[in-house]
Amino acid sequence: MEVWVKAARARRCVAEAGGQPAKLVIPLDQCVIAPVAFAITKCSTARARKDRGPPDMPFQSIEPRRLYRQIADQIRALIDSGEFKAGARLPPERDLAKQLGVSRPSVREALIALEVEGLVEVRIGSGIYVQPAHAAVSGAAEAQAGPFELLRARYVIEAECAALAAKSAKDSQVAAIAAALEEMQQEFEAGEHHPLGGDRLFHMRIAEATNNGALVAVIKLLWEERTGPLYKQLEQHYDSPALWNAALGEHRAVLAAIGAHDARAARSAMQRHLNQAYKRFTTGWGSVSAGK
Ligand SMILES: [Zn+2]
Repeated sequence: MEVWVKAARARRCVAEAGGQPAKLVIPLDQCVIAPVAFAITKCSTARARKDRGPPDMPFQSIEPRRLYRQIADQIRALIDSGEFKAGARLPPERDLAKQLGVSRPSVREALIALEVEGLVEVRIGSGIYVQPAHAAVSGAAEAQAGPFELLRARYVIEAECAALAAKSAKDSQVAAIAAALEEMQQEFEAGEHHPLGGDRLFHMRIAEATNNGALVAVIKLLWEERTGPLYKQLEQHYDSPALWNAALGEHRAVLAAIGAHDARAARSAMQRHLNQAYKRFTTGWGSVSAGK
């Protein structure tokens, strides 16, 4: 408000001086702080604002920034400034994590986001390389949750879903979960690169077996993120028959516990599944080849 009043006074000063800012004689008691340039830019809008009551302040809305986005912004700025030139290899993930004071998974999320944008290329067993500028698609992954954030959220929520499903699933719901697992197995055996349809169906049917519509909605939302560009980009670095075979085995353990109506075993089997996924995606990039 104070700024606006000063701007309005300065506008009056400009008007009194015949609209010639260079010749202004501004009374000190009226225009002590407001810079003339500020007053002039505000002149055209000040009257309209006066009619509407208090004006909008010249602030920009604050958006909470995900940690990996902040890390990605710093690395992007260094690439833009030429600190890391096209073709150069970025420092190892552990060094970046140390210098930035963040965890390695957060750095990895940032690098994956930059890879989705086309700024860097991740070469397993070699390192992370800066791509030529023309390849970049700015902000491609802006709205996504980080893949490791997502896995942690799923660990918390889906483990409880599995426990609830073990308690409340009807026989038909257990059969539906088993059918989804069978579908995933068939996709895998048919050479499907990503047996993702059966995978998603398996997790959704466990959510449905909780008989809680809110949980079904939450799991659906998490799976929308799971099938978004960031997670897929991370996954494709590790994608292999061994990975999916391991996931199938983990699913079988979850199904057995739900079928036995053993809530504790179902919870821990789902925790193990999502923990293993987390571990699979945090194996080394720079010096170690991807373990499955
Ligand atoms: Zn799964």
